[in-house]
Amino acid sequence: MNAYAELHRVAIPLHEPFRISSGSVEVKESIIVELSLDGVAGFGEASPMPGPFYSPETPDSSWRELEQRLIPYWLANPSAHPEELATRLEEVSPDPFARAGLEGACWDLLARRLNRPLFELLGSRRRPVPSGVAIGLHDTREELLERVGRFLAEGYRRVKIKIQPGWDIEPVRAVRERFGPIPLMVDANAAYTLADAAVFEELDRFDLMMYEQPLAKGAIEEAAELQRRLRTPICADESAESPAALEEILRLGAARILNIKVQRVGGLAVARRMYQQAIRAGMGCWLGTMPELGVASAQALHLATLDGFNYPTDVEASRRWFVDDLIEPLLEIDREGYLHIPDGPASGWAVDREKLSRYRVAGLRLRP
Ligand SMILES: [Mg+2]
Repeated sequence: MNAYAELHRVAIPLHEPFRISSGSVEVKESIIVELSLDGVAGFGEASPMPGPFYSPETPDSSWRELEQRLIPYWLANPSAHPEELATRLEEVSPDPFARAGLEGACWDLLARRLNRPLFELLGSRRRPVPSGVAIGLHDTREELLERVGRFLAEGYRRVKIKIQPGWDIEPVRAVRERFGPIPLMVDANAAYTLADAAVFEELDRFDLMMYEQPLAKGAIEEAAELQRRLRTPICADESAESPAALEEILRLGAARILNIKVQRVGGLAVARRMYQQAIRAGMGCWLGTMPELGVASAQALHLATLDGFNYPTDVEASRRWFVDDLIEPLLEIDREGYLHIPDGPASGWAVDREKLSRYRVAGLRLRP
């Protein structure tokens, strides 16, 4: 077998800076993993956050994991099924982003070799996936309302607004007053404690779809206590980082909805395992994003065609965040707010080689 792998580090500018605690990010960096086997190429994407504020992984550390541990493992086992590979990779590397990148490339390669769409390999069927928009923290109420109005006009099927202490009830009330009974939810990104329960009790009056991650990642018992006091379902995001963590959430009743992020949990196989855990327990599900570029987003959308993904995804149009993307065509929503998977093998989207070299800032080819 003739196998080699290539890592491409890419940087694509954002439309607007993404604000994080350690500063402001203006460029989206990702690592595109290319696996080549007997003349067929498969692509995956490792998309760690730009700094270690969310998890210890960064583009630099994920690159090292891929170069030193994961790619050498694949080169020694190039025909392993991605599902089997996923199980082994958990022993090889602790970095879920790097594992997701390699496993994604492995699924892509398999689907191209079999000439089948990825959703079929994942045991699903083709269907349009509804997309929701996520709107960050805003300085003024008018600015927020302007954005909500603009994205609703584009067709997005639900609106998620970020909240934090001091910016919670007011923005929700303002959006409800201006836009009425639209599908609306909030994401607190773990910014509250159980002592803030009154905020969520008050928000209960606004008929929100869910409260995403109100409490700290590890505050599972407290989240269960909070959920008992609320009518609105809690959605686990940061706290659902692995099948074991989800098991604990289910055991305690700490959430009724699950945001599944393929990158955070280490690839499509683990994500599907968590999806199965969730639906067995009667939980609602939806597909989240970090957000990744199109290579990873397109593959994740195939997972989101499974029936139990019953809320809109956070995957948005490519142009929502990035000035460009590597895939052809770009991700787009239709006027009704749905993403459609194109015909063709694997994800249905193709990596544009010209763009891959245009946005590439580093590269490395590895052979057995
Ligand atoms: Mg979230």
